[in-house]
Amino acid sequence: MARKFFVGGNWKCNGTLDEVKKIVAMLNDGAVPSSDVVEVVVSPPFVFLPTVQSSLKPDFQVAAQNCWVKKGGAFTGEVSAEMLANLGVPWVILGHSERRALLGESNEFVGDKVAYALSQGLKVIACVGETLEQRESGSTMEVVAAQTKAIAEKISSWDNVVLAYEPVWAIGTGKVASPAQAQEVHLELRKWLQGNVSPQVAETTRIIYGGSVNGANCKELGGQADVDGFLVGGASLKPEFIDIIKAAEVKKSA
Ligand code: PEP
Repeated sequence: MARKFFVGGNWKCNGTLDEVKKIVAMLNDGAVPSSDVVEVVVSPPFVFLPTVQSSLKPDFQVAAQNCWVKKGGAFTGEVSAEMLANLGVPWVILGHSERRALLGESNEFVGDKVAYALSQGLKVIACVGETLEQRESGSTMEVVAAQTKAIAEKISSWDNVVLAYEPVWAIGTGKVASPAQAQEVHLELRKWLQGNVSPQVAETTRIIYGGSVNGANCKELGGQADVDGFLVGGASLKPEFIDIIKAAEVKKSA
C-alpha cells in the first residue's frame, strides 16, 4: 500500500491572533490536492490550537508542538497529552531539535514522550536529525539510528508515528539537504526500521524531510523514493506552503 504524502507545518513560537487568522484563511483558500492524496497537519503554538482547529477546513488537522512526558499534575508550565486528547488535537510533534538542543531533551526522554503520547491516543511526528559536526565527522546514521532506537524501544506500534528526518544544520538556515542527501538518510532509516522493527513497519511508516523546505525545492525533494513528505518551519507561515502541499502530486504521478 502506498504511503500517503504528509505535509506538516511547524509554526514554532510565532504569531499574533491576527496573523494566525490570516494564515488559516490562506490555508482554507488554497487549491490543494484532496485529502486522499496528501495529509496536511499544521502546528500552531498551544494557545492558538483551539482557534486554529475550529476555523481550519476539515481536510487539515492540527498538531501540538510538544507535550509532557507523563500524566499531568504538578508540572508548572507543561501541557499534558491528556489535555490535547481532551481538546481533540490529533497530533503532536515530539523530539524537535530545538527542544533537544535548547531544553536538553535526551533520546530517552523523547522516547518516553512518544510512548506516553501514543498511549493517550495521540499521533506523533517524531523528529530525528544530526548536527553539522556529526555529519562532518561521518556519524549521521549512527546519530539518527540512536534517536530512532530510543523511540522504538519504548513503543509497540508504529501505526500512529510519522518519522521526521530533520538535519539540524538545515533547520531555519536556508541550507537545505540535497535531494540525494535526504534520500540517502531516509533509505537508511527505512532499512533500520526493517532490520530492527519489522519489514512491514519499514514499508508503511512515513519518513518525512524537514530543513529549509520551500516552494522552490519541494518538488525535487518530494520526488525522492523514500521521502514521504515534509515538516516545514519558516515556509509554513507563508503562501508558498500551498505549493509545498501541492508537491504531493509528484508522488501521485510517479
Ligand atoms: C522545523 O523547524 O521543523 C523546520 C524544518 O524549520 P525550517 O523549515 O524553517 O528549516
